[in-house]
Amino acid sequence: MAILGAPAAGDYAGLWIDGKTHPSSDGAAYPVINPANGAQIATVAQATAEDVDAAVSAASTAYRGEWGRYGPGERAAALRRLAEVIRANLEELALTETRNVGKPISSARGEISYAAKVYEYYAGMIPAVGGQTIPVSARGMGLTFREPIGVCGLIVPWNFPFVILAWKLAPALAMGNTAVIKPAEWTPLTALRLGELAAEVGIPDGVINIVPGLGPVAGAALSAHPEVRKISFTGSTATGTRIMQACANDIKRCSLELGGKSASVVFDDADLERAAASVMSIYDNTGQDCCGRSRYLVHREVFTEFVERFVENSRKVKIGDPMDEATEIGPLASPVQLDRVSGYVKAGVSEGATVVLGGGQPEALELSEGSYYLPTVFTNVTNTMTIAQKEIFGPVVAIIPFEDEAEAIEIANGTPYGLSGSVWTRDIGRALRVVRRMEAGVISVNSSSSVHLEMPFGGFKQSGIGRELGTAAMEQFSELKSVFIPEE
Ligand code: NAD
Repeated sequence: MAILGAPAAGDYAGLWIDGKTHPSSDGAAYPVINPANGAQIATVAQATAEDVDAAVSAASTAYRGEWGRYGPGERAAALRRLAEVIRANLEELALTETRNVGKPISSARGEISYAAKVYEYYAGMIPAVGGQTIPVSARGMGLTFREPIGVCGLIVPWNFPFVILAWKLAPALAMGNTAVIKPAEWTPLTALRLGELAAEVGIPDGVINIVPGLGPVAGAALSAHPEVRKISFTGSTATGTRIMQACANDIKRCSLELGGKSASVVFDDADLERAAASVMSIYDNTGQDCCGRSRYLVHREVFTEFVERFVENSRKVKIGDPMDEATEIGPLASPVQLDRVSGYVKAGVSEGATVVLGGGQPEALELSEGSYYLPTVFTNVTNTMTIAQKEIFGPVVAIIPFEDEAEAIEIANGTPYGLSGSVWTRDIGRALRVVRRMEAGVISVNSSSSVHLEMPFGGFKQSGIGRELGTAAMEQFSELKSVFIPEE
């Protein structure tokens, strides 16, 4: 049975294959919980490798069938219908995302609305991403075509389930591919609902298939499947490594977005008030954001003042029930993530860092059942400590002093990651120098804004391979074909 409206404990959601819901082939299902109170909100079918095979087969048939014959205008119209139906169901989808992920309802509404824009953007960009005519030295004409890759496996994480799905699915469909989606274990509900909505607006059966289940089973089967031509993955570096290894076996295309340990570098000439007001750059989505600025590197001259202001602003962040319109941060997405974050904070303390704010769960009784964690600020941190090197993925920030520009850059680049970062300074030349020397894919100056729909998004080093968003994503969901036609 489909989940309609806000999910309740009795709801059961099947796999979505070839335009229908199915139980898993072995009948297995698992509970999905609301991290704000630990209550079970639904039971979801758990895909086996056999189910993944059925989903890939449906996607393959759809690719060779009606969808494969769609012209660019028909694909654009399909994407626009998806955007419209998402908007028409915005409140329901937002409510489901809030109950399933724990994100504040105001953020959830924003994310669902933004996802609709993503589908719309890619509908509009279809005519913008084509081939070229190339003057070749032989007598004749050189042409390139951008062609779909085929069946694409989209493996999605739990921090922004509906948004990150849109980042992958919209460009994949825009270029004419079909998809098998593996949502994260904890957060499959809005993806499953999207399958139903797509059917309602006439997207042909088999174009979008959804196989919730365990990463090492369903995700691994998808990554290894010989008929899947591309995997687009967002998640941890450890899982990304396994996926890349699986893709290597049959030279499957593979793009990976793998999180970060991003630095916000604050110079002594910065607008300190503005820089210290950017606390949501780490607390937004309860810190479960791959672009979260989990390290603030601050010039020694202004370090003490900056820490005071940052802590003061952090105290004002409203943590609470995600259904409350005023809440700015809800619980972590799962008790598992709560354990991980608590473990990292303990490691920070035992390695000698100082907690100047937070460092545990809120004591308020009404929050005690949920996976809540307080905004947490560390000082006395060196860049080699666990809390400065590992992606904590919680509302935890390390503030580290530096002496000069060279040291700031060395610390900023001193992790295996390279996703995003910020530079705070009034000196434009310095801003440019530091931006150019920071090893990260997405950097902002006097701002913490990382993601723009129209700009490529992705990481250097172990933060991943490939780019999402903008036309870059469309290129990565297509193959380039070169054609030569002689004159005679
Ligand atoms: P994960 O990388 O294991 O999970 C992400 C997705 O990959 C899920 O859909 C999962 O089912 C799937 N998956 C897991 N094992 C797989 C396998 N062997 N083959 C194919 N797919 C597989 O992440 P996690 O364990 O949920 O979280 C661990 C840490 O990862 C977090 O604490 C955080 O640091 C990081 N993370 C980063 C992002 C990001 O946006 N880059 C998102 C989620 C988690």
